[in-house]
Amino acid sequence: MKRTALIGHLTPAHAGQTVTLQGWVNRRRDLGGLIFLELRDRSGVVQVQVEPDSAAFAEADRLRAEYVAEIEGVYQQRPESQRKGGAADFEVIAVRVKVLNTAKTPPFELEKGGDVAEDIRLKYRYLDLRRADMQRNLFLRSKAVTAVTEFLDAEGFIQVETPMLTKSTPEGARDFLVPSRLNPGEFYALPQSPQLFKQLLMIAGFDRYYQLARCFRDEDLRADRQPDFTQLDMELSFVEQDDVLELQERLMAHVFRRALGVELTLPFPRLSYQEAMDRYGSDKPDLRFGSAFEDVTDLFQGGDFKAFADAQTVKVIAAPELTRKQIDELERVAKQNGARGLAWLKRDGDAFTGGISKFVTAQTAELLARTGVPEGGTLLFAAGEWKKAVSALGAVRLALRDLFDLAAGGPQFHVSWVVDFPQLEFDEDSQTWTYMHHPFTAPHPDDLKLFGTPQQGEIRAQAYDLVLNGFEVGGGSIRIHDPEVQTQMFAAIGFTEEQAREKFGFFMDALAHGTPPHGGIAWGFDRLIMVMSGAQSIREVIAFPKNNRGADLMALAPSPVDTAQLGDLGLKLDDAAPEA
Ligand code: ASP
Repeated sequence: MKRTALIGHLTPAHAGQTVTLQGWVNRRRDLGGLIFLELRDRSGVVQVQVEPDSAAFAEADRLRAEYVAEIEGVYQQRPESQRKGGAADFEVIAVRVKVLNTAKTPPFELEKGGDVAEDIRLKYRYLDLRRADMQRNLFLRSKAVTAVTEFLDAEGFIQVETPMLTKSTPEGARDFLVPSRLNPGEFYALPQSPQLFKQLLMIAGFDRYYQLARCFRDEDLRADRQPDFTQLDMELSFVEQDDVLELQERLMAHVFRRALGVELTLPFPRLSYQEAMDRYGSDKPDLRFGSAFEDVTDLFQGGDFKAFADAQTVKVIAAPELTRKQIDELERVAKQNGARGLAWLKRDGDAFTGGISKFVTAQTAELLARTGVPEGGTLLFAAGEWKKAVSALGAVRLALRDLFDLAAGGPQFHVSWVVDFPQLEFDEDSQTWTYMHHPFTAPHPDDLKLFGTPQQGEIRAQAYDLVLNGFEVGGGSIRIHDPEVQTQMFAAIGFTEEQAREKFGFFMDALAHGTPPHGGIAWGFDRLIMVMSGAQSIREVIAFPKNNRGADLMALAPSPVDTAQLGDLGLKLDDAAPEA
């Protein structure tokens, strides 16, 4: 017998009809001689009642949790006293039950899935994926993919696949390497992104490209990172920054509309990197709420309060009334993020008490005016070197958000751009200049003259990040298309000509063969779906993710390999390494 409907597609119009459903037993209860089952398929759950005198009873009595069953019965409204409105008011009275397959007792209760230890969920991922949350997340993801394809196809983009076995690509993370059996002692790198290939596609004249690209980065893992992940990767020719941003906004709006039924407001606000850092202490500020910083460096400069007097930057954030314990906790956050401490004041009428109040009497009126801190509220200060001070206070701002649920009052989704990133960053550890986005990002034309000068840190990049609720969900740039500028850029980050040739020789050659002006962006697709779905980790929106130690607990990867396999590859392990 074929199934007549998916459970979630049953409507009141089916009432009185005989239906055949197929799915899994969600739950079984026996009550007063009756068997109550919940039957589940990918679309929903329905209650099935099997009466003791029914021909279906004996077979139904075999059913246990997660058995696969086919149930034929009459779809009908439940007795009036049991109705609460909605689909749950309907049930199926079974006339025939067929066990399609038995199942072992599940190692965890599926209904409790979200609360079960994640390692168990990942070990039995195929069961975990049966849960409504995971089904919802993966369907959302699929809808978003459809929306992307729909939109970009209509905009004239071509999908091209780029290689997985390739040469190191420049995104600044560690590569995953794959040994080559045919070329002993040599290795492929898995792509950190399709960056160079998509630029080559522009040189090849495809004009508009996209790909849902798997990327690989061997980094320490966090809730929003995986060693292999998916980017929505795009590149366009004959464009300037505004063209890219405008198209991206329409794409993002389309994805939200089609996948979630949410209308985003266009255009997205744009903040410069400087502004984002200055006001929110982050290059991916969560703008669902305000709590911007005020700059009060001028109020203290050269004054008596030594801790602030010589600081490059003094920033303040106004917080609600805080207990001492909360202040201590926020100070810990500030210190973890590079601050030496977190100075504070509590407003008491037209004065301040507590914390550093005895040092700031001269500044009281001005602090009240600039911050607008309410009665009883707290001011929190970070002082020191600019980047350290703003970053630390940025972390405090997010801790305040979590403490007081500040984002709840704002829009559910807030998308913005951060633009005008610096082209170069000075790395204190290695005492060298490095790129901030990647070395193919074009500098602002007005700033070109600063290459190679002591002011090269001030060069602005034509780079942009897409920020959603405090997460960087995309990043891209206009690219260098002039080989001369590319050479200058390599020189600025200390690559000798030989080094540049060795790494990117093929690309430098291509660049000299008629490169159109071009630019693009890549979305962190897993991260975007995570935020759209409200999940706390990208593992919740990836069907088969690794855990936070990079392990696939189900397939047991990575795993040792035998000596013969290594031999084929011309490899030998250190004595210290475990063997299979
Ligand atoms: N390839 C870049 C990245 O992965 C994105 C881009 O510049 O398009 O971050």
